[in-house]
Amino acid sequence: MPQSLPAFADFRPWVEQQREACGSVRIADMPRLVDLLADSTGSADVALRFGHDPGRRPMISGEITARLRLLCQRCLQPFDWSTTINLRVGIVTDEAAADNLPEELDPLLVANERVRLVELVEDELILGLPVVARHEDDSACRPAPSRTGGADRKESPFSVLQTLRQRDGT
Ligand SMILES: [Zn+2]
Repeated sequence: MPQSLPAFADFRPWVEQQREACGSVRIADMPRLVDLLADSTGSADVALRFGHDPGRRPMISGEITARLRLLCQRCLQPFDWSTTINLRVGIVTDEAAADNLPEELDPLLVANERVRLVELVEDELILGLPVVARHEDDSACRPAPSRTGGADRKESPFSVLQTLRQRDGT
């Protein structure tokens, strides 16, 4: 079983020692992300490396991979969606420093010298979500069955979803 990612890192010693933080974060432990998903199953695998950019700025680079359950906005059924995020953030302690970062670094504003690692992962996953979630494979996408059941059978897409969830046992 993979170890879980530490919640915090005091960034200065981590940057000086070029430390790495590897581990997993349960999706259920990222409530702002869960609000945007069909359910909270699974976890994200995370590998973060602290260090400096060529201009000696403190930074974190790394990779996040996750398999998320999204709700298709066309047929209202959940589907699995895999994502890999390559991140490069510059650690800054005030807004002025954020404005001075080179373009290839996204600013990560930290308070009290601490990087909140799980929140960083959560923010990156939220930013990486598709604007409109929908099945990429049209054959898997089955819009609400209003046309198949005849005129008198009108089932709300939400009750269809409910039935699916119960069948999945989630
Ligand atoms: Zn669909």
